[in-house]
Amino acid sequence: MKVLVTGGAGFLGSHLCERLLNLGHDVLCVDNYFTGSKRNVAHLLSNSGFELMRHDVTFPLYVEVDQIFNLACPASPVHYQHDPVQTTKTSVHGAINMLGLAKRVGARILQASTSEVYGDPEVHPQPESYWGKVNPIGFRSCYDEGKRCAETLFFDYYRQHNLDIKVVRIFNTYGPGMHPNDGRVVSNFIVQALTGQPITIYGDGAQTRSFCYRDDLIEVMLRMMDTENGFTGPINIGNPNEFTMLELANLVIELTNSKSKLQFDPLPADDPKQRQPDISLAKDKLSWEPTTQLRDGLTKTISYFDGLISSGQYKPQ
Ligand code: NAD
Ligand code: UDP
Ligand code: UDP
Repeated sequence: MKVLVTGGAGFLGSHLCERLLNLGHDVLCVDNYFTGSKRNVAHLLSNSGFELMRHDVTFPLYVEVDQIFNLACPASPVHYQHDPVQTTKTSVHGAINMLGLAKRVGARILQASTSEVYGDPEVHPQPESYWGKVNPIGFRSCYDEGKRCAETLFFDYYRQHNLDIKVVRIFNTYGPGMHPNDGRVVSNFIVQALTGQPITIYGDGAQTRSFCYRDDLIEVMLRMMDTENGFTGPINIGNPNEFTMLELANLVIELTNSKSKLQFDPLPADDPKQRQPDISLAKDKLSWEPTTQLRDGLTKTISYFDGLISSGQYKPQ
C-alpha cells in the first residue's frame, strides 16, 4: 500500500514511517518541519519505498494514496502555544484537507487525537464516553479545541460522506527520538538530570500523567488502522500506570544517578491535575495493552539522550 504520514518527520511520525516501511508499504512523509526535522527520517531516505515532502497541511494536497495517518500538529505545550493561531489552523484546516483528500481517493484515514480532548478531567480514569472539561479560551485551547474540532470533522465526514475513519486518543507518550528541546516533561527531566541542571517541577509536582512507551503506542496505532467492520473509535491508547511528576523526577534522578536538585516553578494555566486512560476498549477491540514499564522505557530513553549529549549532537545551553 501507499501510505501518507502527515507530521512524519516528528517524534511519533518518524517511528511510524519506519514501521510502515518494515511492513513493506510505500510511505509518503509530509511535514513542514515546525517541530520535526529531516534528521529524524534521514536514515529512511535511502529506502526506495520512502518519499519525503515539505508541505504544510493547512494547504491542499493532491497525491494518490491508499491510507492516511494524520499526525501533523505540534504536541508539546511550549511549541503549540508559540503560534496558537497556526496550531488551530493545523488541526482544523489540516483535517479538512486530509479528509478532502481521503474522500477524493477513497483512502482510509486515521486521526492522531489526544487525551487533551478531556481537558482537566472530572472523571477518572477517562473512558471514551466522557465528554471532557475544556476551557475554550485559554492558552491550551488552540490545541485542545483544535483537536476536538478535528474529531468533529472526522465524524461528520464519516456520517455525511461515508468515509472510512479511525480516531485514536493518544495519552502522554515518550521515548527515544524526542527532541531534547521538545519541552515536554520526560525529555526536560532527562536532559536536566544528565547535564546536572535543576529538575524543573511545575507547581507542587502532585499532578499526574500516565506515560506510554513509543513502541507500544505505534503498535496499537497500526492495529487500529487495520480494524474492519466500520470500527471508528474514538479509542484511548496509552499506558494506564499513573505517576505524579515528583515520582517521575525521582525515578529519573535514580536511573541517571544524577546530582540534580528539584526546582519548583509556577504551574502553567489550565494544567490538567490528573490523567489516566481507561483502556478497556483497546483491550477488548484490539487485544492490546502496553508491555513496557516506565522504568524500562525511561532507561532506553535516557541512553538515547546520553548518546546525543556525549556525541556532541546536542549542546545544553
Ligand atoms: P512532534 O511535535 O514531534 O510531531 C509533530 C509533527 O508535525 C512535526 O514533525 C511537525 O513539524 C509537524 N507539523 C506541525 N504542524 C504541521 C503542519 N501545519 N503541516 C505539516 N506538518 C506539521 O509530536 P509527536 O509527539 O510526534 O505527536 C504526533 C501527533 O500525535 C500529534 O498530532 C500530536 O498531537 C499527537 N499526540 C501525541 C502525544 C504524545 O504524547 N507524543 C499525545 C497526544 C497526541
Ligand atoms: N483537498 C485536498 N486534496 C484533495 C482533495 C481535496 O487537499 O485531493 C482539500 C480541498 O482543498 C478542499 C478540502 O480538501 O478544500 C475539503 O474537500 P471536500 O471535497 O470535502 O470539500 P470541498 O472541495 O467541497 O470544499
Ligand atoms: N512539567 C513539569 N516540568 C517540566 C515540564 C512539564 O513539571 O519541565 C509538568 C507539566 O506542568 C504537566 C506535566 O509535567 O503537569 C506533563 O507536561 P507535558 O508538557 O509533558 O504534557 P501535557 O500532558 O501537560 O500536555
